[in-house]
Amino acid sequence: MSSNFSRRAFIKKTSLGAAGAFIGMEALATGAAPALQLSGTPALLGGTPLMTKDNWVKWPVWIPETDEPLVLEALRSGVWSRAKLVARFEEEYARLLGAKRCLSTVNGTNALIVALNQLGVGAGDEVIVPPYTFVATIQAVLVNGAIPVFADIDPHTYQIDPVKIEEKITPRTKLILPVHILGMPADMDRIMAIAKKRNLLVLEDACQAHLAEIGGKKAGTIGHAGCFSFQTSKNLAIGEGGAIVSDDDDLMDRCFSYHNLGFPYGVAPGAVASGSVRIGGKTRMAEYQAAIGLVQLKRLEAQTRIRNENAVYLRKRLGNIPGIVPHRLYDNVTQAAYLLFAFRYQQDQFKGLSRDAFIKALSAEGVPVSSGYTPLNTQPFIRDALESKNFRSMYAGNLVAYKTYMAQNQCPQNEALCKEAVWITQNMLLGSAADMELIAGAIERIYKNADQIKKA
Ligand SMILES: *Cc1c(COP(=O)(O)O)cnc(C)c1O
Repeated sequence: MSSNFSRRAFIKKTSLGAAGAFIGMEALATGAAPALQLSGTPALLGGTPLMTKDNWVKWPVWIPETDEPLVLEALRSGVWSRAKLVARFEEEYARLLGAKRCLSTVNGTNALIVALNQLGVGAGDEVIVPPYTFVATIQAVLVNGAIPVFADIDPHTYQIDPVKIEEKITPRTKLILPVHILGMPADMDRIMAIAKKRNLLVLEDACQAHLAEIGGKKAGTIGHAGCFSFQTSKNLAIGEGGAIVSDDDDLMDRCFSYHNLGFPYGVAPGAVASGSVRIGGKTRMAEYQAAIGLVQLKRLEAQTRIRNENAVYLRKRLGNIPGIVPHRLYDNVTQAAYLLFAFRYQQDQFKGLSRDAFIKALSAEGVPVSSGYTPLNTQPFIRDALESKNFRSMYAGNLVAYKTYMAQNQCPQNEALCKEAVWITQNMLLGSAADMELIAGAIERIYKNADQIKKA
């Protein structure tokens, strides 16, 4: 165990740029742990917090000495609009995933919008989506004039349930949009089998799932296309940025064209005299975005390995605490991305202490956690969209009657999860096993004192 610790400390110091974030860990690793007082008074009740927020790796990771030269070069070159660096980023990202092509975009939302559009999703189509996702997944469907149809989740993996997908297929269904939510892979084998049998397209929302793997294949490369986000909170952080990957040359040529004002693929971006060959927006990545991406890409594999090691440890450890039910991965998952580490909190095992109070108490110990998503399928913006002028003219008659739509889009498993979920963010999984031990210890401290915390 201790050689594992030092190897990790080494990786962390050299390639992750988190020096100074593991002082407590080294003490624990050598057995010289200071009095951590795991059993002491909870911080929320005036006890000493088990750690401070400085314990965790600061995100985004940025090391001026190694990271700034390429970015400065991009800035000083005066070439800021899409050029060589963007192309290099696309090549490197495609290679890392084992995809034939990659097209970068301004962000993940627009990667989804462009991909859906060029996969032919539009007015009259239904797209099957999970309810447990970031709102961008749903917006990308609505922006294209299609209707999101919600298929409930698997309560253990939190991913879209293939059985529920099959139940939601109608003659209007065009595409299945699985999301590898929290960076844990969806059940792609079964989803692809359904798609094949029912002649449907599959677009993977892999915006949270960089380098996640199912049977050794990267998330985003299994469906007809996959989309990624490089927004700051994501595991590959650029600030804003996104990508579409696919092995389909024709699709990727059309996506390129659509993301560049409908100019034919191959026209140098910036050319003003080209004739458009299709409708298109303009969602090109900038050179300095790509420069940041190229720098961050160097760390992604090492960081992903550490997150997985820590998640395995934490899952086992938390599974032994009553009332804490960690997520599960499907059997064929060979690697997760772990944008988030999630578990279900069962308050009846904690003397009825509410999830909000649990989150408050855990955050007071220096373990900043959150409750995650609220149900998406019932949000009013969907009703407003379906009842809008555009949708009314695209869908004749009663096709989008909201009452019927809502009745058909109930997701009880998702509602239950939204009430119980607790999230730990990916940067905390870049710590040591000793840090994971502190997370578990903090939860145990709350478990033991649940009664008093509840009364406070
Ligand atoms: C972040 C995210 C997006 C959108 O990506 P942006 O880069 O923020 O536009 C889409 N889907 C999911 C699941 C995401 O987490």
